Amino acid sequence: MFVPELKRHHGSEAVQNGGLTGSTDTDYFYFFCPKCPNKHIMRILEYTVKERTEVNKYNTEFKIKAKNGFVLAFDLYCENCKHRDLVKISNIGSQGGTHDEALGKISSS
Ligand SMILES: [Zn+2]
Repeated sequence: MFVPELKRHHGSEAVQNGGLTGSTDTDYFYFFCPKCPNKHIMRILEYTVKERTEVNKYNTEFKIKAKNGFVLAFDLYCENCKHRDLVKISNIGSQGGTHDEALGKISSS
């Protein structure tokens, strides 16, 4: 059954566990295709707000407060290899530490 990309809850294994990387040019961020060599830039076909909360649950842990909570999902597509995937950006998931800690490779101190 076909599931529209932004209706999915998770990206494929290709984007998980550090599989998706990216970078900026000026201040624009680009996602690199996890299947192509040479950091081929993926198009963003669409985005959606998956979740929005009035209160950010991490505010109690930090001095600087987030205005609210959100989860954005992006529908990514590679024109080179036709790979299509989903990635999310959130401020109500892991909020600090290192990437290895987020992946569970090492415990946070
Ligand atoms: Zn590709």
